[in-house]
Amino acid sequence: MEIEKKERKISVAIDGPSGAGKSTLARAAAKELDFLYVDTGAIYRTAALYMLRRKAAPESAGETAALLPEIDISMTYSGGIQRMLLNGEDVTDRIRTQEVSMAASVVAAHPPVRAFLLEMQRNMAKEHSVIMDGRDIGTVVLPEADVKIFLTASSEVRARRRWLELEQRGTSREFAQLLRETRERDENDSRRAASPLRPAPDAVALDTTEIDFQESLARIIQIIRERAGL
Ligand code: C5P
Repeated sequence: MEIEKKERKISVAIDGPSGAGKSTLARAAAKELDFLYVDTGAIYRTAALYMLRRKAAPESAGETAALLPEIDISMTYSGGIQRMLLNGEDVTDRIRTQEVSMAASVVAAHPPVRAFLLEMQRNMAKEHSVIMDGRDIGTVVLPEADVKIFLTASSEVRARRRWLELEQRGTSREFAQLLRETRERDENDSRRAASPLRPAPDAVALDTTEIDFQESLARIIQIIRERAGL
């Protein structure tokens, strides 16, 4: 039995706009199901941090692509937490600023950047049962995922959650500005030509605008158990 369990790798793709609660929910669901949680946004953020440090214009496909060969991104897990290493340096906390959020969304629109980061994401799912969250996991990264969930919430609720998160981190921001930036990121992520944010045709949609964390988590776990036959 144990061997069978180890051989069957289950992959769960959770996609949706920023602030829909993907990472908190995916992390909690992965813990409950004993899967590995992979936050793919962190990978884009790490690449974006490098571009910012090297003073490349995030909107320039040429400038960002030229820097890719200099970037080595790896992930380690300590106590179930995904840590991001950029050329060996732990940048887990540094990639969480609003500046990096905005740059990641711009950098992620360039096809060479996406291609560069694709294999790394796919390899994680080959080696482990995963819950992977991002924008194009169900459509591009893991089109054969066992379970696909598309998580949404209104832009107001998402900006409010981001506001609270920054407040708790002691880096408070004006709500109106965060709402504008949330919508701007939605635009960038949905309108881009390369892997735009859109639900896979076989994804289950879950709107968390009106439901709290516990209920969202219960629904996600139920969807995963049903669809993966657990
Ligand atoms: O999820 P998070 O907000 O950390 O992602 C940062 C940015 O990385 C997103 O705005 C999006 O542009 C990009 N991203 C992506 N594809 C993914 C994950 C993130 O394009 N799979």
